[in-house]
Amino acid sequence: MEIKFDSVTKNYGPISAIKDLSFTVTQGDFVFITGPSGSGKSTIIKLILNQIKPSSGQILVNNHSPKTQLEIDQNRRKIGVIFQDFQMITDLTIEENIALNLDIVDFENDQRPLAIDTALKKMKLQNRRFLFPSQLSGGELQRACLARAIAISPQLILADEPTGNLDPINAWNLIKYLKQENEKRGTTIIMTTHHLDIVKSLNKKVIKLIKDN
Ligand code: ADP
Repeated sequence: MEIKFDSVTKNYGPISAIKDLSFTVTQGDFVFITGPSGSGKSTIIKLILNQIKPSSGQILVNNHSPKTQLEIDQNRRKIGVIFQDFQMITDLTIEENIALNLDIVDFENDQRPLAIDTALKKMKLQNRRFLFPSQLSGGELQRACLARAIAISPQLILADEPTGNLDPINAWNLIKYLKQENEKRGTTIIMTTHHLDIVKSLNKKVIKLIKDN
């Protein structure tokens, strides 16, 4: 999935979150978005997810600006998301959390069991599937979130500070899995992070934001 920001500005009332930002993430790219707290990283994620609209400028998905709700929904179904704070439903098991996400994106019914199995297997969580989020370690939980994201066979994975709550070993482990999805399936990855050691050692495209207010 290709994402193009064309002179995008986002203001929240008097607060300017991003200003005249242009970049292109092409299909199969693995891109980092870095910058200090408050520089607009989460705003970019929310704009791509269409949770908020730009104040000015355009966001193109595969060279097209989605206009109708149908187009927005269709794009959303192709995006897997992982967050720093996991955002798992606490009273559902890991498997049920993944199943719920498949339901939300209207994934083909008869392919759901295989999609869940494959995602859990890839993330080495087969024997954790019936556990609840609170029963997993931080590293396992973030892998479970990635399993939830990849189960829908996304064209794009948005990872918003995914290593923020992980120790270095688990952080690198997660990066390994993200790289695997990028290299083996050609999934586009956009990851916000302030872990500059990860950014430096991966030699990928970097969008550096600055905080100018
Ligand atoms: P980051 O993810 O890099 O920490 P954010 O995108 O969360 O940055 O925020 C960018 C700027 O926009 C910050 O100054 C923040 O305070 C402001 N901001 C973010 N969300 C809102 C909101 N809903 N209402 C008002 N200001 C906001």
